[in-house]
Amino acid sequence: MSNTITQTAERRLTRQEVVARYPDVPRLVIIKTDVRLRGVHYTDAALGSVDPAIHQVRGRTLFGTRDGQLKPLPSSVLLKDGTLILPDPTPIEKNPYIIDLVDGQLALFDNGEFLEFLELTLKPRYYDLVTTSGIPMKEIVTARPQRLDLTASSYCHFGTKGNLCRYCNINSHNKQQVKEGVGKSRYKPQEISETIREALKEPGRFSFIHITGGSVLAGDEVFDKELDIYIETLQAIGENFATKKFPADVTTSAFNERQLRRLNEETGVMAYTSDLEVLNEEKFNWICPGKADAIGYKEWKRRLVAAVDIFGRGYVGTGIVAGVELARPFGYTSEEDALNATLDEAEYLAERGVTTWSSPWSVRPGSDLEDQTGPSLEYCVRVARGLNQLRKKYGLIIDFNDYRRCGNHPDTDLSRIN
Ligand code: SF4
Repeated sequence: MSNTITQTAERRLTRQEVVARYPDVPRLVIIKTDVRLRGVHYTDAALGSVDPAIHQVRGRTLFGTRDGQLKPLPSSVLLKDGTLILPDPTPIEKNPYIIDLVDGQLALFDNGEFLEFLELTLKPRYYDLVTTSGIPMKEIVTARPQRLDLTASSYCHFGTKGNLCRYCNINSHNKQQVKEGVGKSRYKPQEISETIREALKEPGRFSFIHITGGSVLAGDEVFDKELDIYIETLQAIGENFATKKFPADVTTSAFNERQLRRLNEETGVMAYTSDLEVLNEEKFNWICPGKADAIGYKEWKRRLVAAVDIFGRGYVGTGIVAGVELARPFGYTSEEDALNATLDEAEYLAERGVTTWSSPWSVRPGSDLEDQTGPSLEYCVRVARGLNQLRKKYGLIIDFNDYRRCGNHPDTDLSRIN
């Protein structure tokens, strides 16, 4: 209970106050971060201007939205400097940002205040095509403005033992998608290969391929089956490239050295990510019980560092859910303590060639922590600044996860400009 009091007793800075206090962080990146935290709601006029025949709309996704619905709403919007927002539809009573129509153009509002015009992403050409087996290609590979996304597994096996990460709703979302007929859990290598081939025909559109999914525990050693799925998928993609390596990365469970060597030697993947999610062992054990149970925090971290010897310095990363370490009742009671602990651990990793990026914690229905408030904007901005400063200090690149190839992380937006 004391956690709640400590966190809510201090007034949170408004977005305008955060912009004034952190002049080194562009206003647009702060807006993006807050939109991630609070979500968006579309007016009827805005919805009327979204045309799935022209614009790219949400299809199969790994995680569910804050409104718990499956609707063909925009999958991404761009601010005027190219900063990407992945809008999360959110019930209006939760005070989200509003997307409305102004002079025929989508615009972002906060409590009646106009902030910015938004640009929709155009639908990729391959979205209209089907594989020779009759599967719509947009089910198999989804897209961001410049990236192709594949899902290795839409189900996370940590959930089988009731051990999902506490902020995650992957399995309830997967169940809803299956029930409503939004895609399948897995696709055949031939279907993947055909879809990538068609997608790459669109001139100048895509520069990167990303694969991720839920953890798969089966195999002689834990994650062996998961590794097999990634290898099969990457080999199918690789059929479309003349070179051994191609611009792709994966976000997987933490593979051991034998598994990492297989991934590197048997596929063309160029970069490797495995998300620690929370950079403190005690908080990790509480927030990510499945990961803690499968191999533990120290071993997860050790495997990340070991991956640098295989993929190279700066080509290994880990993602964190910024702010979830402040969740009640066992999270930090002070943002200062949470920030210091997170950045200390990120520095340990950066010294060893592993780069860390953050996704502000978006509180989602269907997750264990669905009733919580989420972190402050200022906290998420400070985490982003700190991670960017560490990347600069240790000379780590972010090429495979930058504002164009990924676009989801406020800290990697900062790496673009300073
Ligand atoms: S590992 Fe954690 S965050 Fe990732 S899919 Fe499983 S439960 Fe969700």
